Amino acid sequence: MNATGTGKVCELRDRVAQLIGDNRFRTWFGDGTNLEIAGEEVFVNVTTRFIGDWIATNYMNQLAEASTDVMGGCPLVQIRLKGSPKAEPSPHSNGKITARPAPAATPARLKRTDRPVLRGELANFVVGPNNELAYSAARRAIKELSEAYRPLLIHGGVGLGKTHLLHGCFNAVQREHPLLNCVYVSGEEFTNEYVCALKARREDVFRARFRSVDILLVDDIHFLEGKKATQGEFLHTFNAIGAAGKAIIISSDRHPRLLATLGEPLANRLTAGTVVELLPPDYSTRCEILRRRAQAFKKELPADVIDYVARQIGGTVRDLEGAFHRLIAVAALSHTRLDLALAKQAVADLCGDQNQSPTVEKIEDTVAARFGINRAAVHSAARDRIVSGARSVAMYLVRKHLRLSLPQIGRSMGNKNHTTVLIASRRVEDQLVRDAEVAVKTAAGYQELSLRTLVHELEVELGLAS
Ligand code: ADP
Ligand code: MG
Repeated sequence: MNATGTGKVCELRDRVAQLIGDNRFRTWFGDGTNLEIAGEEVFVNVTTRFIGDWIATNYMNQLAEASTDVMGGCPLVQIRLKGSPKAEPSPHSNGKITARPAPAATPARLKRTDRPVLRGELANFVVGPNNELAYSAARRAIKELSEAYRPLLIHGGVGLGKTHLLHGCFNAVQREHPLLNCVYVSGEEFTNEYVCALKARREDVFRARFRSVDILLVDDIHFLEGKKATQGEFLHTFNAIGAAGKAIIISSDRHPRLLATLGEPLANRLTAGTVVELLPPDYSTRCEILRRRAQAFKKELPADVIDYVARQIGGTVRDLEGAFHRLIAVAALSHTRLDLALAKQAVADLCGDQNQSPTVEKIEDTVAARFGINRAAVHSAARDRIVSGARSVAMYLVRKHLRLSLPQIGRSMGNKNHTTVLIASRRVEDQLVRDAEVAVKTAAGYQELSLRTLVHELEVELGLAS
C-alpha cells in the first residue's frame, strides 16, 4: 500500500488492519488504495469504483473507529476515486462515529493519571421511548449525588447505546462537578488492571484507585462472567463505594440474573438498586438519530431518504449508523446528490445482509398483512382467532430471529407480559410440529394454509430465509 504522509497514517493503517484482519486489509487496502489524513478528515483513495464500493459497504465503521482512535475527535471518513477532483475538507465535522473500543490493558495503564477522552455526550444521545428510562435514571444518578446511594444498572444488547450513555455521564460529571473523582472503566479494563495489579503485587494501588472514587462507571460488566477472582474484587469495590455513599452506574448486555456465571452475591448487589433496560429504537427515534447524525456531519438527508432508511434498517443504533456512513460514502463516490434512488441502491445491500435483522415493527407489519389486519390489532388485547393467530406468529418470529429477551419482546409488542410471549411462541412451535393450518387473507377471502408454509413464506419475505 502507498502510505500517504507519515506516522499517523501508518498508525491508522495498522489500526484498520487490526480491526478488519490482515488478510482482508491486504486485499482491499493493498495495491493502489491509500489512506490520507487532511485536517480532521480521512480520505480513502481507491483506484476503482468497485473497490471503493466494497470498502464503503463493509469497512466504514472500522475506518471511522480507527480514525478516531488514532486522531482523536470525530474525523469524517470519505472514499475518493483516484483521479477525481479532490473534495474540499469540510470546515468542521463533529459527532461521534463509533464507540471507543476498550484499549488493550498494559501494566502502564495502572500508572495512568490522565483523564480518558470519551466521545459519547448526553447531548447527542437521542432520547425515545426505547431508552428514556435509562437516560433519565442516568441523569438523575449523576445529578443527585447527595441523594441516598442507589446503584444504577443499565442493560441492553450490543449497539443500543450503553457505552454512549456511560461516556455521556462521565463527560457531564467532568463539566458539572470537575472536582469529583469520576472513573470510567470497562469490565475488560477492570479485569486486566486487576490481573496486572495481582502480578505486580500492587493490589493496594488498584484498590486505592477504585475505592476512592466519587462516581464509578463500569461498562460491560458481563465481561466478568466466569472470572471468579475479579468478581470477588469487584464485589468489594462495589460494597466499599456503597458504604461510602458514592455513586455507581453499571452496564451489562443482559439482565444480571441472566448472567449465569456471575455469582449470586454479585447478581444480588447489581439488582439491588435501579435496573433499567435499553431497547432497540422505534421508527421515529430511528428517524431522529439519522437527522442528528446528518446534522453532525453537515450532510443533507432529504426527509424521504430518512423515512426510507429508518423503515429499512431496524435493529440497533449501530446498524443505523452503518447505513448512514454507507449512504454518505456511496453518494461521495458517485458524485451524485443523495436522493431516494441512491439511498435505495446504497441500502439495498445492507437489507440483504444476513446480519441485518428486520425490526420488530417490520415483522409485525409483514405478519399482520398476511392475516389481513394491522399492527395496532397485533398490539391490542383482542382474542379472536385471526388476531391472536397473527400475534402468536409475530411473537414466534421475533423470538426466533431477534436477539431480544421475552420481556423486551412483550414490551415492544403492545406491552404484553413475557409469559404471553412465551405461551404464544410455544403454541406456534407445537402447531408447526403438528403441521396445523391457519386462516390467512387472500384475494379470495380467508383461506386455510399450512402454518409451516406460511412461516416459511414470511421468513423469505423478511429476508430471514431463502
Ligand atoms: P453499546 O455500548 O450498547 O454496544 P454504543 O453505546 O456503543 O452501544 O452505541 C453504538 C453506536 O450508536 C454508538 O456510535 C453510539 O454513539 C450510537 N448511539 C447509541 N444510542 C444512541 C442514541 N440514543 N442516540 C444517538 N446515538 C446513539
Ligand atoms: Mg458498549
